[in-house]
Amino acid sequence: MRKNITPQTLQRLPMYLNYLKSLPKNSGNVNISATAIAEALNLNDVQVRKDLASVSRGGKPKVGYVTEELIGDIGQFLGFENKTGVIIAGVGNLGRALLAFDGFGDYGLNILAGFDENKDIAGTEINGKPVFSVSELKAFCKKENVKIGIITVPESAAQEICDIMVSSGITAIMNFAPVHLIAPESVTIKNENMAISLAMLSRNFQ
Ligand code: ATP
Repeated sequence: MRKNITPQTLQRLPMYLNYLKSLPKNSGNVNISATAIAEALNLNDVQVRKDLASVSRGGKPKVGYVTEELIGDIGQFLGFENKTGVIIAGVGNLGRALLAFDGFGDYGLNILAGFDENKDIAGTEINGKPVFSVSELKAFCKKENVKIGIITVPESAAQEICDIMVSSGITAIMNFAPVHLIAPESVTIKNENMAISLAMLSRNFQ
């Protein structure tokens, strides 16, 4: 199935999934059309049809999708069968909030653990997720085959943490520190700067 979908489509897929799962079973809901989903969720039906076609081949003209098959296809696309493990380095306010957030599961992601250099934080748990010393990061990632890391340490520690992540086999990093990280080309870095996002939003409204 095509994997290069837009972020907008990715954002809508859990919505479709939640709606399909909420439908009563065995009461005539064997098939469902993109139009019916669009109407129920107040979305554009052309958009819904395109979204569904990018993750499922099951759609038939005039019949729509077999509901259970579509649930399976969207779930598979979002990685429900095989959740991707993610770790967080820096368990301050932001790191804690991310560890406590359960919404990543909707996108097939599983936050496995947090790591911090502060001895008072390491050894604790947040939302049932363990927090370890940063010295244990490498061994943990190797053992659990973790490929995605989130950096929520201060700017001054971000490059050091990035280097540790890279040496641990991590190939994708979401960086919340306001600093340009240097990493091998094979590592994807996504910088998240909420201040910039907010500033752009405020400009749009001026
Ligand atoms: P934020 O709101 O950005 O999370 P904060 O004020 O809670 O910030 P920061 O000073 O930004 O805290 O630090 C975030 C966390 O990163 C802290 O828990 C701190 O102990 C941890 N930290 C700092 N340096 C390192 C490092 N080199 N390795 C691991 N953790 C670190």
